[in-house]
Amino acid sequence: MSNSAEPQYDLVIVGGGISGAVVAKTVIEAALKKRDEKEQEEEGTGASVKLPHILILEAGRSTALSADKYDTYVEAYHKALIKVPNSPYPASSSAQQPDVLDIRPLHDADGNPVVSEQGYFVQKGPLPFGSDYARSLGGTTLHWLGTTLRMLPNDFKMKTTYSRGVDWPLSYDQLKPYYERAEWDILGVAANVEHQHYPGIEDDDPKKYFKSADTEKFPAGDYSFPMEEIPSSYLDEYFSKRAGDMTIRLPSTTKPTHSFKVKISNTPVARNSTPTRASYKIVGAAGNADRGQRCEGNSSCIPICPVQAKYSALKTLYELIVRFPALQAGEQPGERAAVTIRSQSVATQVVHASGKAAQQDRGEAETKGKVTGITYKTYYDDGTQPTEHTVTARRYVLAANSIENATLLLASEAANSSKQVGKNLMDHPLLLTWGLLPENVGAYRGPGSTSGIPAFRDGTFRKDRTAFRVEIGNWGWNFPENAPYDTVLDLVGGAKDGKAQLYGKALRTRLGEILPRQFRIAWELEQDPEARNCVTIDDRYKDALGKHRPVIQYDLSDYVKASLPWAAEASRQLFAQLGMVDKRKRPEYETGDYTDYKPNPDPDPAQVVYKGQTYWVRGAGHVVGTHRMGTDPSTSVVNSYQRSHDLTNLYVVGCGSMPTLGTSNPTLTMTALALRTGDMIAEELSK
Ligand SMILES: Cc1cc2nc3c(=O)[nH]c(=O)nc-3n(C[C@H](O)[C@H](O)[C@H](O)COP(=O)(O)OP(=O)(O)OC[C@H]3O[C@@H](n4cnc5c(N)ncnc54)[C@H](O)[C@@H]3O)c2cc1C
Ligand code: SF4
Repeated sequence: MSNSAEPQYDLVIVGGGISGAVVAKTVIEAALKKRDEKEQEEEGTGASVKLPHILILEAGRSTALSADKYDTYVEAYHKALIKVPNSPYPASSSAQQPDVLDIRPLHDADGNPVVSEQGYFVQKGPLPFGSDYARSLGGTTLHWLGTTLRMLPNDFKMKTTYSRGVDWPLSYDQLKPYYERAEWDILGVAANVEHQHYPGIEDDDPKKYFKSADTEKFPAGDYSFPMEEIPSSYLDEYFSKRAGDMTIRLPSTTKPTHSFKVKISNTPVARNSTPTRASYKIVGAAGNADRGQRCEGNSSCIPICPVQAKYSALKTLYELIVRFPALQAGEQPGERAAVTIRSQSVATQVVHASGKAAQQDRGEAETKGKVTGITYKTYYDDGTQPTEHTVTARRYVLAANSIENATLLLASEAANSSKQVGKNLMDHPLLLTWGLLPENVGAYRGPGSTSGIPAFRDGTFRKDRTAFRVEIGNWGWNFPENAPYDTVLDLVGGAKDGKAQLYGKALRTRLGEILPRQFRIAWELEQDPEARNCVTIDDRYKDALGKHRPVIQYDLSDYVKASLPWAAEASRQLFAQLGMVDKRKRPEYETGDYTDYKPNPDPDPAQVVYKGQTYWVRGAGHVVGTHRMGTDPSTSVVNSYQRSHDLTNLYVVGCGSMPTLGTSNPTLTMTALALRTGDMIAEELSK
């Protein structure tokens, strides 16, 4: 069914996650500012500035836009037996989402490659892509950790500096003002500038790296974050005391050793703490501003912050629908800004001149090089058949997450003259190492991580092997071992030779001794862009609405793999310093290096063998690179404003635009890019 009564919008955005929400907010605020300026210039003329009428199409449900309904997610999380990122967010068969529980081996018992059709992704390997995303209003920020590091200057020019990857069409300095807006106006970042010592920054001086050009807000350029840093955990302090001054030495073929000074740094996060200025207004939970004003240390940031002290896109979306509600009957577009969010509405086609749908419906010459509509299907929970609609606008934005943006463009045969759509898929492959510390360090308290070791984020070694960031985890062995649940199971029933079958008081006592001593590190490896790592579509694989499921091929290059032994060796040196010896003891759980790189009898699907050593690699959820930005239309999909080179009224936004990934979690950078895009769209719409 097609709905011809749909109004024309100024802007249609596909995807109600952070990138879509940020573009919508920026476009509206730019128009309001313009209206004010015009009014000030000459009283009575402000109204001549038309205000935008925006539609956000969202594939998932809009459950969480009220604080009460958000609690149904919290309940689902409590009830979930295995608590993975998507546990609180039930997906519909009409808008399926990937789940890490669906990851399967991609080789049979004889080592022959197999394709996994389990779950939503079709995985062709050779390695499974280990990350997921959420398809509910609010998107993946519903279950992100909230880490908001900026990229380093060299991350933007990998080709020039290290002859690796590609350069960005933007530099760190060009993106800096947008980082500031992202930190202040969108995410609400808690951090202390003085504690951000990173390699590769000018004179190792955080003040220079953060120095602001906005001298009105920051006199003398001295930047500060909107909120004070989240206090370091007891574990961070323990770690600092015992390993804070050590030097890690790693072997190299180009020089005798590379030396890295371990300096622990409090990590910037989008989590509410104490404002640094009285004028800064903390944003609480969507629909209940009194809630979530401060991080309470609930310790479940992934998969859900029960009080919404951690930023999610729900906050921005909620602000939009309260300040700029949808137009009522009789109201004319342009008189006031208006945002309509249409949930359970899955975009299925970008209609354009050179695409199939456009060829059928329209004269090609007239519309060449432009999008003429977005087709979407709305599904219902009461058994009604899905309905199909096409909506038109002056500008279009795809903000559906890197992988969904790519499948949508591929299915629409749109914006792909470069043949780069879907290619260069990247993540931060994670090597986890974990062990039992000699003392109680208060594991399972506070946010998932409050600090890291930046030493390996930049250096000349990046010519030979990838950089990595070290995240110090506060949640014991939750990630590698499904602790504390599996720790209980091990102690109750996992005994060998009559040991460790504990019940009642003995069990409680032993758990009390073990759990607070559990410790793990995530070694987050930068991945380089490779065309063979890609998202494609295949007509054999479609979902209930007939939309293509993502078909994924994924592997690690030798450039990435070369950092696995380095991370493992750095971990051994750190663990030794912390008093964890190199032996494995289970189920007694005595102090020891518990990390197990050996293949299980039941092989882990994400095993990587490099130079005879086996590693397990996990996904970080940092899905990047499927519609890369660049200046050359023959090698990139979008320009530096994330506008399609091929279709001049189409913007494709999100982490998919990032040409390389660096070692920072990508969402802050993606938000900065979305702000820049929003400014450009506002400028275009004002003409
Ligand atoms: C476990 C985990 C932890 C993470 N932690 C961090 C972190 O600490 N720091 C960091 O920087 N990043 C982190 N990330 C990554 C971060 O969550 C993403 O980078 C970010 O959410 C991407 O934003 P987006 O708006 O581009 O996409 P999303 O947030 O995924 O939003 C896309 C939206 O589009 C909708 N959509 C999808 N398809 C369609 C369609 N066809 N039609 C209509 N709507 C559609 C979806 O339902 C969704 O609402 C983490 C990710 C995971 C999985
Ligand atoms: S520690 Fe708790 S309150 Fe703080 S952000 Fe995480 S889940 Fe929310």
